[in-house]
Amino acid sequence: MNNIVAIVGRPNVGKSTFFNRLIKRREAIVDAVSGVTRDRNYGKSEWNGKEFSVIDTGGYIKGSDDIFEGEIRRQVELAIDEADVIVFVVDVEDGITPMDEEVAKLLRRITKPILLTVNKVDNAMREKEAIEFYNLGLGDYHTFSGMNGSGTGDLLDKLVELL
Ligand code: GDP
Ligand code: MG
Repeated sequence: MNNIVAIVGRPNVGKSTFFNRLIKRREAIVDAVSGVTRDRNYGKSEWNGKEFSVIDTGGYIKGSDDIFEGEIRRQVELAIDEADVIVFVVDVEDGITPMDEEVAKLLRRITKPILLTVNKVDNAMREKEAIEFYNLGLGDYHTFSGMNGSGTGDLLDKLVELL
């Protein structure tokens, strides 16, 4: 399979909301390896005439700070292996959290393209607040709202350029 996009990030940043907005149809869960893929949703999407598969990670992870070493790290590492492009979602309401920094640390080591995306930018006021995410050391970011859709067109333009 080619053109695989993985959506990663800590719980509650809005990964699934964005995934549901993106996909046209869900795929059967691919579970070739073992149980490891059970908490991942797969879907197909298309933008500017380019088709791609999307993986939403961390479906069953509940928000708690002590789980990074286990579940989230595993999800990010799987995504790094599987995906052609990684969409790293953070949340402007919460700002940078220690878990975001852990994910960023894993992602800074890889050479695959990473899109740093700041979600919950539902209005122009929040645009300014997103500036702090430069401190994750992943370069520039894209703001969007998975809830109302603003910014998602530009984000997808950039995403399909990377595929
Ligand atoms: P996940 O754990 O990363 O998959 O996050 P979810 O997609 O389940 O969303 C977590 C919470 O954030 C839910 O209450 C969503 O309604 C909310 N949420 C998701 N996207 C947005 C957004 O763009 N703006 C706002 N204000 N809330 C959002
Ligand atoms: Mg989710």
